[in-house]
Amino acid sequence: MFAEIIAVGSEMLTPQRIDTNSLYLTAELNGLGVEVASKCVIGDDRARLAEAISIASERSRIVIISGGLGPTEDDVTRDATAEALGRTQSFRQEVCDAIEERFRRFNRRMAEVNKRQAFIIDGAEILPNDRGTAPGQWIDTGQSVIVLLPGPPHELKAMFERECRPRLERLLPPQVICTRVFRVCGIGESDLDQLIAPAYTKYGNPATTILAAPNDIHVYLRARCSVETEAVALLDELGSQIEALLGDRIYSRNGDPLETEIGTLLRACEATLSVAESCTGGLLASHITAVPGSSDYFLGGYLTYTNRMKTEMLGIDPDLIALHTDVSEAVAKAMAQGARHRSGSTYALSTTGIAGPTGGTEDTPVGTVYIGIAGPGGCAAKRFQYPGDRERVRLMAVQSALDLLRRRLL
Ligand code: ATP
Ligand code: MG
Repeated sequence: MFAEIIAVGSEMLTPQRIDTNSLYLTAELNGLGVEVASKCVIGDDRARLAEAISIASERSRIVIISGGLGPTEDDVTRDATAEALGRTQSFRQEVCDAIEERFRRFNRRMAEVNKRQAFIIDGAEILPNDRGTAPGQWIDTGQSVIVLLPGPPHELKAMFERECRPRLERLLPPQVICTRVFRVCGIGESDLDQLIAPAYTKYGNPATTILAAPNDIHVYLRARCSVETEAVALLDELGSQIEALLGDRIYSRNGDPLETEIGTLLRACEATLSVAESCTGGLLASHITAVPGSSDYFLGGYLTYTNRMKTEMLGIDPDLIALHTDVSEAVAKAMAQGARHRSGSTYALSTTGIAGPTGGTEDTPVGTVYIGIAGPGGCAAKRFQYPGDRERVRLMAVQSALDLLRRRLL
């Protein structure tokens, strides 16, 4: 079953405000087994809104409209809905009384304009609002259900929970949506797609979505079935094919980021970690310490941006830097060894590179990063060449460093 969401409010067509109600509603609908097929934001414009509602109610079984139920001239949702459905509205004294009573409770007098909120579309069920003045409305046309909910998120959530979810449960055939996510690094988005497309294109259900962040790809599988065991079986079937294709490039199956994974691995072998950072400027340590409890295994780091600091803080021979330059395999290794030696950690990671946009040379173009690792198994460094701007290069380097450690720990 498909639903459609319309967020009403001109403020959400400015750069300052975004529609978050639809994210909440989507999560709730998915939980009920309903897919959101489309959503949109419409300004406080009665004609445009009426047009959108009329189109939505023709093609979707469920249409949820949020906002624009207030008392002022720019609150046009009631009128637009009535127009789209070709229904009239009538003033309901009991709704007006309830609004008036609410004002009295807060020692205020109801303004005349609030009477507008007591107009109910003919045939609609009234959804009481215990957090605000505007009641919601539930209209079942037979062909579709149109739900009007207030815009303020806490009002909308309370009303959805109490009034809409039970009604939707009665309306819907038993259906569940189960999801699985694989997080992957060390492969580009298009390479990954080429690799797993032969598996997932065989399936319409589960549906597969690939979302890419710098050196961190999320592969989402969503299965829709009438019972949970069926959905899980489908996820297992496609999931195992994807796992076989991606192998150890999958670093997480529960949505956790790489820094959480390496935390788990370090804890399991009671090992500690330190870092020596140049081009990532503390970003690597920042990611590692974003994980609660990281003090169990993370000792600290050396932020050595200049050659002098590399020598003073990590004990690197200035001749080695002069011979190889600071962005080199030799220096990345020496940084990791220096951090490990000086901190006494089991493992150490290092980064040195050129994040750009300037500073590249022919041999070492912008985007070149050497990542070093030192540990009980010895010391190594790897050269990476990343595309993209400074921020992206730095983020990719952090991911690569964490992944290098993960592979060492596996
Ligand atoms: P009110 O009686 O408060 O006017 P309303 O139903 O008319 O209720 P709106 O005026 O559309 O609601 O919105 C009130 C406030 O709720 C907005 O200023 C905004 O902060 C928030 N809001 C409205 N719609 C959304 C949305 N889709 N996502 C997040 N916040 C929203
Ligand atoms: Mg309003």
